[in-house]
Amino acid sequence: MFYKLLTLYYYLRTKYFLRFTSRKQLKHYQQKKLRHILRRMKKQSPFYRELPVKCEDLSSWPLMNKQKMMSNFDTLNTAKIPLNQALEVAQKAETTRDFTPKIDEYSVGLSSGTSGIRGVFLISPLEQTQWSGTILAKVLPKSIFCKQKIAFFLRADNNLYESVKSKIIQFKFFDLKKPFEQHIVSLQNYKPDILVAPPSVLYLLAKAQEQKKMKIKPLKVISVADVLYDDVKIFVSNIFNCKVHQVYQATEGLIACTCLHGNLHLNEELMIVEKKYLDKNSGRFVPVLTDLNRSTQPIIRYELNDILTEDKSPCPCGNISTVISHIEGRCDDVLYAPGNPPRPVFPDFIVRAVLKYLPSVGNFQFCQFSLTEAELSLPKECLCPEELLKELKQILPVNIKLTVWQQPLDLTIKYKRVKRNFCI
Ligand SMILES: [Zn+2]
Repeated sequence: MFYKLLTLYYYLRTKYFLRFTSRKQLKHYQQKKLRHILRRMKKQSPFYRELPVKCEDLSSWPLMNKQKMMSNFDTLNTAKIPLNQALEVAQKAETTRDFTPKIDEYSVGLSSGTSGIRGVFLISPLEQTQWSGTILAKVLPKSIFCKQKIAFFLRADNNLYESVKSKIIQFKFFDLKKPFEQHIVSLQNYKPDILVAPPSVLYLLAKAQEQKKMKIKPLKVISVADVLYDDVKIFVSNIFNCKVHQVYQATEGLIACTCLHGNLHLNEELMIVEKKYLDKNSGRFVPVLTDLNRSTQPIIRYELNDILTEDKSPCPCGNISTVISHIEGRCDDVLYAPGNPPRPVFPDFIVRAVLKYLPSVGNFQFCQFSLTEAELSLPKECLCPEELLKELKQILPVNIKLTVWQQPLDLTIKYKRVKRNFCI
C-alpha cells in the first residue's frame, strides 16, 4: 500500500510539478539535486569514498562506462551486493524466464549487451516506485485512475516493468522467445490500449494487422529498445492510426520520452546530460549521464555508447528539455572509410541512401567487415540495386557485396540496419 501511494506521488509530481519554464530554472533544480546525490554517494559508495572527488564540482568525478562499472560493481553499489551474485540471479531469470527473483529487496536485471559486455542493474523498491510513477506519468494516454491495458513485448521482463501493474493498470508481458503467431492470437484477445515493443516487432505486428490476422485499436504505440527509423514509424502509425512514441530506456535510466507533439525529449529533470559533441554542425553527440536519484547503483558521469542528434529548435509543448531529432545508434556501429586516419561515416547516411530505393518499409542490413569490405542484404523488391550500390560507394568507398535479405526468425536478437564487424 505504501509503495502504491508513493507511485501515485511520483506520478503526480512528474505530471504536474516537475515542469520548468526556463533552462535557468531547470539548472537550479538539477544543481540542488546533484549536490545532494553526490554527497550521499561520497559517503555511501566505497568506490567514490576513496577518490579525491568534490561534491560541489561534478567535473572532478571520473567518467564511467559499462566496462568500468562492471569491473568496479562490488564497491560502486551501496547495497553491498557482489557482481557474481547479481549475475547469477539475473542470468537464472533469463534462462528460466521467471523474472521475479530478487536479492533481498533489490530487483536485478541484465542489459541486452549489444556492445559485448552485459550490464547488470540493481534497483531498490523506492527507486522502482519512482521509476513506475514517472513512466506512467510520461506514457499513459489517459489518467492513472482510468482502466488501461498495457501489452509489453521485450526480450526479457523484470520486476521493474511489472511494477507499473495495479488494480487499474493491467500489464501483460509477451515473451519474444515464444512463437510470434501465438502472440497475435493473445494480443487480439487482450485488446491493449498501449502497445509497447521494439520497432522490428511493431513492424511485424502492423504487418499482421494489415494482413487482417488481428484487429487491435491501441490508443498509443510505443517503440522501445532499438532505433526507430522514420519509414517504420510512418508504416506502424498508419496501420494503427495513432502516433508512434518512443521511450529511450537503458540500464542506465529513463533517458528520453516522446511528448504530445511527437518530439523526443531528454528527461533532464531526472538526470544531467553532458554532451560530448562528435561534430558541432550536425549536433551529433555522445551523452554522459548523471542520474539525480539513483543511489543503489550510482550513475555518475556515465558515458553511453549511443550517438544522439540534438534538435535546437524549441518544442511547442513547452518542455525546455533538449529535443533529440533521432537516435543514431551505437558508437560501435559507426562505419569507417579508408584513409589515414580512417574517416568516420555515420550509419544514418547509409540508411537514408538505401531507403530511397526501397518500397514503403525497408528491411535490409548493411554490414562493414573491414576497411575494404562490406555487405548489403536487400529485399527482392529493391528498385535499381546497381544505382544504389553506386551511391553507397560514394558514401563509403569500399567493395560492397550484394545478398538477399531474410527476416530473422529469432526476434530476441537486436535488429540493426547498419553495423560494423571489426575494431578500429
Ligand atoms: Zn515537446
